[in-house]
Amino acid sequence: MTFCLSAGCATVYNPATEREETVLDPAIESALGSVAKAQMGLASLKVGRVTGEQMARVQAIGARIARSSDPLAFPVQFGVIQDKTLNAFTLPGGTIYVHTGILDKASDDELAAVIAHEMGHVAARHVAKHLQADLGFTVLVNIAAAAGVGPESARLADSLYGLFSRGFSRRDELEADRLAVRYSSRAGVDPEGLVSFFEKIQREEQERPMGRVPVWQSTHPLTGDRIKQAKEEIEKLKGRRFCPVCGREYPGQVRFCERDGTPLKEKRGVR
Ligand SMILES: [Zn+2]
Ligand SMILES: [Zn+2]
Repeated sequence: MTFCLSAGCATVYNPATEREETVLDPAIESALGSVAKAQMGLASLKVGRVTGEQMARVQAIGARIARSSDPLAFPVQFGVIQDKTLNAFTLPGGTIYVHTGILDKASDDELAAVIAHEMGHVAARHVAKHLQADLGFTVLVNIAAAAGVGPESARLADSLYGLFSRGFSRRDELEADRLAVRYSSRAGVDPEGLVSFFEKIQREEQERPMGRVPVWQSTHPLTGDRIKQAKEEIEKLKGRRFCPVCGREYPGQVRFCERDGTPLKEKRGVR
């Protein structure tokens, strides 16, 4: 176990990762999110020619997944960027952006899976963990305190661009996939959307000329075991029931929530 030996961090149990973790203070991460938005030209949740319909689709599905996720350190926000590439990413402080390229290609279940995957990164605090490993708590606290004007602030955008071009660690990606299956299923969305979206972008890659790999895929390498793990997680959820009030999950034979007595529902869409 690691201890928090400087300002700006705390050691807490995270229900998403089921681990005790030393992680950046959520208030500091939110402040870094504001700095990153200013540095990256993302002042608005709507970037470029995005229709009201596209915005409403992402925000409705996002809100539905957010209600079914593990408790989050901050309220999550959803934005849309006009861009043909298949991409979605998460800024510090829980702002999730989806490119219109994904909206054009994905069914609602698949879009829910992509958003749930990004939500997995938020719940597991993967952005904060990347930043604290890359820059260290002291630098992050300084950047947040200087609100983007100090000499160290450019390092934040550099670190995030590096993350968005290389992607998270393989371990973090597998963890976000596992959480994506859990959250979409809990939200009453068919978690098979994750598998079918993976398969869709695999086909997309084969049809494309070399060197034009969609970004969400290039930063999320689709090894066979990612698809295999997603299928295994879906299998594990079969026959399980959940409480529509508190979200707690139970084996198939239980009928009422032990906590609040609510009749349990079957996981819809899990075949
Ligand atoms: Zn990811
Ligand atoms: Zn309950």
